Amino acid sequence: MERAFARIDFEAVRANCARLKAELTEGAELCAVVKADGYGHGADGCADAALKGGATRLAVATAAEAEQIGRRFQHVPLLTMGALTIEEVDGAFSAGSELAVWRDDFRRLVADRARAHGRRARVHVKYDSGMGRLGNRDAGEVLELARACAADPDLELAGIWTHLATADEPESPYFDEQLDRFDEVVAAVKAEYPHAIAHAANSAAVLRDKRSHYEMARCGVAIYGLDPFQRDPAAHGLLPALSLHSHVADVKHFPAGASAGYGRRWTAPVDTWVGVIPLGYGDGVRRALANNADVLVGGRRHPLVGAVSMDNITIDLGPETEVEPGQEAILIGRQGGEQVLAEELADRLDTINYEVACAISSRVPRRPA
Ligand SMILES: *Cc1c(COP(=O)(O)O)cnc(C)c1O
Repeated sequence: MERAFARIDFEAVRANCARLKAELTEGAELCAVVKADGYGHGADGCADAALKGGATRLAVATAAEAEQIGRRFQHVPLLTMGALTIEEVDGAFSAGSELAVWRDDFRRLVADRARAHGRRARVHVKYDSGMGRLGNRDAGEVLELARACAADPDLELAGIWTHLATADEPESPYFDEQLDRFDEVVAAVKAEYPHAIAHAANSAAVLRDKRSHYEMARCGVAIYGLDPFQRDPAAHGLLPALSLHSHVADVKHFPAGASAGYGRRWTAPVDTWVGVIPLGYGDGVRRALANNADVLVGGRRHPLVGAVSMDNITIDLGPETEVEPGQEAILIGRQGGEQVLAEELADRLDTINYEVACAISSRVPRRPA
């Protein structure tokens, strides 16, 4: 038995990708986003499963991620989406990655490095249609950049793209405003360079509106079976791929008034039994879950009581319990008829499921289901 581990269901990742691919406009490619170690699920295994499910491209955020994924999946087109330092350009490029470009000085740098390597760099020109983060906000400059890339013998204009700020807010009209702006840029670029692929959609956009699909969608969170809208992934036919497991290390009798954990943040209101589970914030179980989460043991929910420490949490098993040391404890996942979703923990933590998954630390081994 292991102290704690995350079980990763790669078959779920495959099925989620097949589900998303089926949703896409005819001919649009699915690009699986495996940044941040596959949102905490393990990038290599998830990339592999995503490709089996119909993804034909991969994307990451950083040069180090590009080097890891590029080495392993040499024949799959890879896009590094993030901003790169001068030093990092070589790493991402050598790994075979396509690069994001939105400034002319960076375009020239990429061209210089490509020439030094004796191979053309494939670049995706990024338009900031309203995300207000990476990308060029000026539509005219974006067209000029696309022209400069296409004209440069060391570069190949592979794509024109943008990122949406409110795809996960169904009521927000900003989504359509961004796409209206992007449509104009796409029309101008594709009038001259019809082979450049346009892409804008993340997971939420794919599920929200086909208008955002263009020729490729960059899906992260949904491929892991997490709901981009922070509700139940089942509503979109998505299967959660990650579950977080530990076990009951001890079961102790607590007389009324006895306290559990640092700071005595919980005291037993009546005589009860407390289970100790060897998992804590060192594993990514956030401290804000103190007195604010349920843990599954024996197919039932038990409240997490007292502080979350680095290596342990405590749960109230109630005045009469049959739970014994050695039983499985689940913080995220299913047991019996009960389920705790990452979305539930995110809600309790006033955050999003993305952060819950990414927070699970490297101390927790990832095991295939
Ligand atoms: C992370 C990321 C995505 C994936 O978004 P999800 O909401 O996880 O589907 C797509 N595009 C860009 C630019 C990203 O940074």
